[in-house]
Amino acid sequence: MTEKIIILSDGRSKPLTIPADLAPPTGEVRDRLARPLRDLRISITDRCNFRCVYCMPKEVFDKDYQYLPHSSLLTFEEIARVARQFVAHGVEKIRLTGGEPLLRKNIERLIEMLAQLTTVDGKPLDLTLTTNGSLLARKAKALKEAGLQRVTVSLDALDDATFRAMNDVDFAVADVLEGIEAAYDAGLGPIKVNMVVKAGMNEQEILPMARHFRNTPHILRFIEFMDVGASNGWNMKDVIPSAEIVRRIGAEMPLAAIDPNYTGETAARWRYTDGGGEIGVISSVTQAFCRDCTRARLSTEGKLYTCLFATQGHDLRALLREGHSDAELSAAIGELWRVRGDRYSELRTINTDGLARTAARKVEMSYIGG
Ligand code: SF4
Repeated sequence: MTEKIIILSDGRSKPLTIPADLAPPTGEVRDRLARPLRDLRISITDRCNFRCVYCMPKEVFDKDYQYLPHSSLLTFEEIARVARQFVAHGVEKIRLTGGEPLLRKNIERLIEMLAQLTTVDGKPLDLTLTTNGSLLARKAKALKEAGLQRVTVSLDALDDATFRAMNDVDFAVADVLEGIEAAYDAGLGPIKVNMVVKAGMNEQEILPMARHFRNTPHILRFIEFMDVGASNGWNMKDVIPSAEIVRRIGAEMPLAAIDPNYTGETAARWRYTDGGGEIGVISSVTQAFCRDCTRARLSTEGKLYTCLFATQGHDLRALLREGHSDAELSAAIGELWRVRGDRYSELRTINTDGLARTAARKVEMSYIGG
């Protein structure tokens, strides 16, 4: 009989300390590896209507799964207040995630609040969202009108049977493709389409997906299967390295490497040499990119994480609800970033088995967003 993993909402967190020095933010805080803070990912719900096998496997996140009570979620006002502090420390991009963020009621109101924010040098914030696309066709126009700039859509196969097996809730590809077109028509492009590749499950879809999105304005990115959380049964043998994905596509549709759009971009970019557009590969397992990682993550109940593979968060919600000032919140966030030294993927590459054996239970991706 297989052992059942029961995941309760991730209660493990440390208090967030307020340093004595409440110096105002400079917009240029750096961590211990001299990385700036440029990118905040905010999970706004721990709920999802999919059960993707690499993120929220059904046998773990089943009907008995305890979701977070609404009262423990950060309110939109709290999220906007926290976002303001991060922007003052240099954040230029905010990505809304989940679970499935479009399940959070009135998300448009939150987007309107965040869209008011400008970066330290007065530019509009790059406000984006990652979705499984299931509700996109219905919501795209309202999201754009609220101030959202772009969307990234997860789609793991074109073949319906394979896609249904990956999302494990019998959801059809056609509805996600319709959502992508609706988002594009609403002006939320360029649409990035993320495909997680798992050996023996959807690797046969690499070429059909590449052929489908080639010569379109959409950018298809292939993500190596990652050992996120503690419930997806990750094993190195299930990883198709990005170099192999590029080799398979390039054999049929020649590719050339191109420069990143900006430092810290997670995807390595490749363009079709015949002008048919570009693809990306996100290689956290075989080509770690921790050196340029400028990302912080906020869970839906207000815990701060400085790495996707963290084992513990820091409780920002407590500071919010204890009535601390903006200056205290800002100083606490700055101090947390200053002492940051995360580089999990680099360490995993050096010592995969050792790390997999010893590492404490990592936080679930569905809890802090990808
Ligand atoms: S493993 Fe952690 S530090 Fe490295 S790139 Fe991912 S989130 Fe950043």
